[in-house]
Amino acid sequence: MKTIGLIGGMSWESSAEYYRIINEEIKKKLGGLHSAKCLLYSVDFKEIEHYQSVGAWDKAGEALGEVARSLEKAGADFIVICTNTMHKVLGYIQEMITIPILHIADATAEQIIRQDIRSIGLLGTKYTMEQDFYKSRIASHDINVIVPDDDERELINNIIYQELCLGEIKQSSKNIYKKIINNLVDRGAEGIILGCTEIGLLVKADDSKVPLFDTTLIHAQKAVNKSLSISS
Ligand code: GLU
Repeated sequence: MKTIGLIGGMSWESSAEYYRIINEEIKKKLGGLHSAKCLLYSVDFKEIEHYQSVGAWDKAGEALGEVARSLEKAGADFIVICTNTMHKVLGYIQEMITIPILHIADATAEQIIRQDIRSIGLLGTKYTMEQDFYKSRIASHDINVIVPDDDERELINNIIYQELCLGEIKQSSKNIYKKIINNLVDRGAEGIILGCTEIGLLVKADDSKVPLFDTTLIHAQKAVNKSLSISS
């Protein structure tokens, strides 16, 4: 079994999910007392969120690169960045280490293709929905990406940073997400990417008439497969 190096804390609410899912999947696959070999370096999200808000992506990249370097030194065989948004700085991180990084968008796109879906709605932070780094990675798998309109993006983003990353799960916010999902479906989305690792804490399969692709679950399962050298 290979050792998974998790860059977490963004937010810790979702990193806890990664830790739980990874261990449950290892137990499912190997049985008994088996559990995952993993290292979790959990950052102070306030520092990272500050770099995001002032556009200091280079600083964020260097900070997470240092974290990845520590994980490599500690024995990680590969890196999992436990947030969609911070894949924006994957290049900075990769430059500072020799072990590979398991890209969350590639893992998600594989699952979308597997269900024969070619047009997908994307929910995430404003950075993930508006900038190119994530949408183009999904699109490189020949998938059309549809994002919510301006007002909807603002609502989605505010709920992520002001509630979900603080562990607040509200029915009123769930209703807002459900409405936005319906609008995306009306615009042609055959499925929805929960492209922020906290959204799965709020939105469940029952809340949507089309398949949901929970990036936390998909990424964590992919990490387990890689750790056990299972190709899928
Ligand atoms: N966890 C979130 C994501 O998957 C948002 C927090 C962050 O900005 O990293 O994008």
